[in-house]
Amino acid sequence: MPIHFNDLDVVSEAAGLSSALIVPCYMCPAVSVAVRENKPFIQFFRNFLKSAPFGQYMTALQSRLKEHGVKTKVFKSIPSHEWFMCMWTSGKRKKLQKCAGQHDAVIVLGCDSATETVRGVVKSIDCKVIEGMEVAGIMNAQLRFHLPGNVSFENCKTVPISQ
Ligand code: SF4
Repeated sequence: MPIHFNDLDVVSEAAGLSSALIVPCYMCPAVSVAVRENKPFIQFFRNFLKSAPFGQYMTALQSRLKEHGVKTKVFKSIPSHEWFMCMWTSGKRKKLQKCAGQHDAVIVLGCDSATETVRGVVKSIDCKVIEGMEVAGIMNAQLRFHLPGNVSFENCKTVPISQ
């Protein structure tokens, strides 16, 4: 099951910057947000493969950063096999490098492996890496499909990761 996350204080970390690229992993963080908000992860007939709760979460984050003078853009991951930042192709990493160079910072929404992907990409450019989420544990949940094409996670528990 996916990793479960808590939010970190991105606004404080981005203080003084003028622009940031938000780089989300579209898998575990999207599930985590949907579960936290008790909403379906995916509604195929409404948003196809986009997780609406995660989209709203990022829009709210962008608004908070804008209020503090930080302009943001969200780095997109289409098609869906590029959702998993821990397994991005080299083409995807090159695309991120090109995009990240136009910003003061990259805000990673994902686990340490997602951050590692970003650090590997931006090491040769002057770009701060900000972690937007921290791992709270691994999720244990029941996957549920319900009409008209919704995917949800129910009876969720967060299992601590053994040290
Ligand atoms: S990068 Fe991390 S958060 Fe994203 S799918 Fe892989 S394990 Fe999950």
